Amino acid sequence: MEHTNNKNVFLIKYGELAIKGKNRYIFENRLLSTVQKNLNTLGKFYVKKEQGRLTVEPADNNVDVELVIEKLSRIFGIIGIAYGTKSDEVSMDAIKQLAYEHMKDMNNVTFKVETKRSDKRFALTSMQVSAEVGSYLLDEFGDKLKVDVRNPEVTLMVEIRSSSYVYSKTYAGAGGMPYGTNGKATLLLSGGIDSPVAGWMVAKRGVEIDAVYFHSPPYTSERAKDKVIELAKKVAVYTGSMKVHVVPFTQIQMAIHDKCPHNQLTIIMRRIMMEIAQRIADKNKSLALITGESIGQVASQTLHSLVVTNDAANRPVFRPLIGFDKQDIINLAKQIDTFETSILPYEDCCTIFVPKHPETKPQLEYIKKSEENLQDIIEEMICESIVNTEVVEI
Ligand code: ATP
Ligand code: MG
Repeated sequence: MEHTNNKNVFLIKYGELAIKGKNRYIFENRLLSTVQKNLNTLGKFYVKKEQGRLTVEPADNNVDVELVIEKLSRIFGIIGIAYGTKSDEVSMDAIKQLAYEHMKDMNNVTFKVETKRSDKRFALTSMQVSAEVGSYLLDEFGDKLKVDVRNPEVTLMVEIRSSSYVYSKTYAGAGGMPYGTNGKATLLLSGGIDSPVAGWMVAKRGVEIDAVYFHSPPYTSERAKDKVIELAKKVAVYTGSMKVHVVPFTQIQMAIHDKCPHNQLTIIMRRIMMEIAQRIADKNKSLALITGESIGQVASQTLHSLVVTNDAANRPVFRPLIGFDKQDIINLAKQIDTFETSILPYEDCCTIFVPKHPETKPQLEYIKKSEENLQDIIEEMICESIVNTEVVEI
């Protein structure tokens, strides 16, 4: 059989965004440009919209398929990636050619054919296409292929769109929504296990992420900062890019240490972090904050503490890990490849000024009272920290 027109193709399946009505094209276009951008480093690819799918055709047939699939599987908004072949012709002949090529090297396998037909003008129904392709394959390869509709080793998928497609394997995508289709939020990113995971989860819903890291040299080393940047890079594997605002925080921590009751250090520090983060968020048109907090994990994350911390925020604070056990967070951290970096043993600013007996049930009015000790100096210190913030672009 002739098969000169067949081309290798990646078919990208997207989920939820298919149901977004009038906004659908915005999501599709964003996904398309993210796919194009992420694949640029691997060579030349033609990315196109195709009736509820994106198709990616490599210009070079020797492209590293596994690498492309790995890249695509990290792009938010994609639920599945199939690798197969396409023909520009939409006809039973073209489909049979594709099926023939796809199955010809298979030996001794059970199979069935399934068809999706988005072009309803096609003369045959999906069932009819599957049946005809199935019996054609049996005619050609009856000695080595057997039909099993219940539990086949190979499910040959036929898709009839404005071209014809055939494939038999679909790889899982990252799910979620295309990055950058849902506003921007500011992640309080420490060097720990939790905050990178929290940022990843919100980014997965299409929200663009900026990060803020509070750095307290010399108590926190340059290596601790590098670790945070490294974590931001790991998250940026999914988001494409990220800005990290490195805020000098030593002076403020010293001031809290000098002027406030020691059992309240962490909670007051956390409130000031919120204040600074949201001012940076404002400058960057970011609408919300994100933290890696989870109820009860440490003293500063009891429900009482969270309420007092939250009071310092003038906008929504997303805590996607709020109900997660530590082990669940660790599992996710491993899955997104931030865990190994997170457990590198560099100190963070919170471990240095940790009170021996932290308050676990802080009350807002007492905390505010303690903060009055800072009232003459804190505004200037906050402004100075913001002015001296270093922005690292990833
Ligand atoms: P993580 O693993 O994210 O560091 P954690 O369990 O160590 O979390 P805490 O140290 O209590 O928890 O911090 C709670 C949250 O406050 C973090 O998840 C992060 O969002 C924010 N945070 C803490 N320290 C910093 C910092 N130095 N810079 C930026 N954000 C921070
Ligand atoms: Mg931490």
